[in-house]
Amino acid sequence: MSMIEIKNLHKYFGDLEVLKGINLTVEESDVVCLIGASGSGKSTLLRCINYLEKKTEGEIWIDGKPVEETEDGINKVRQDVGMVFQRFNLFPHMTVAENVMEGPVTVKKMGKEEARKLAVELLEKVGIADKADVYPEMLSGGQQQRVAIARSLAMEPKVILFDEPTSALDPELVGEVLKVMKDLAQEGRTMIVVTHEMGFAKEVADRVIFLHDGMIAEEGAPKEIFENPKHERLQAFLGEIL
Ligand code: ADP
Ligand code: MG
Repeated sequence: MSMIEIKNLHKYFGDLEVLKGINLTVEESDVVCLIGASGSGKSTLLRCINYLEKKTEGEIWIDGKPVEETEDGINKVRQDVGMVFQRFNLFPHMTVAENVMEGPVTVKKMGKEEARKLAVELLEKVGIADKADVYPEMLSGGQQQRVAIARSLAMEPKVILFDEPTSALDPELVGEVLKVMKDLAQEGRTMIVVTHEMGFAKEVADRVIFLHDGMIAEEGAPKEIFENPKHERLQAFLGEIL
């Protein structure tokens, strides 16, 4: 049973077809890196997987079950599938710990004491427990993104989707976030990561997928993709980015 199974996924915005028949299977503990030029549909694909966007056609199965497009069904997907964005979107009026506790308390009805304990554990995991009681504005971008990752983990998702999690960071802060993501990968988390960090993709991904014009143009082990790209557009893309 696969963790994610996507069959013939199409997404239109009005007349614009942005995803043109995506077929994708992600097994438990897989780390899949999604690469491709700007506008190729990477964010839309992630957003369809956790129903921030409603697909136009096709099927999405999570953990062996088709997603039901009802309010309950979609709430369930949002719990099972965590998302970390380029912009960290922390609540500015809440402390770091409160940001992490928010989901468990409001969605899972966890008691505050237990949620606080969980938050501190997760903040330790991302190396930032000493900032539990400060407000996000006091943190660097890299620290804020690590809080966002802890916040996502607090919901115990089955899968985490990362949409260019380091693209908004100053270069010197990228490494600390990639390190946390690498730790998660090594723990056996199932992850789909949109990234331009080819070093990370080479080292951490089980599989790399190249999206071009709303279609999967090529996919394979990182070694194949980076050392022996076949699709002309992938060759061009790698030529620009590496
Ligand atoms: P990527 O993440 O690969 O840069 P996106 O998934 O963001 O690509 O966008 C793919 C295409 O879909 C682009 O042409 C973009 O302009 C279009 N698009 C994305 N979101 C919307 C939207 N909400 N409404 C209309 N068009 C959109
Ligand atoms: Mg994008």
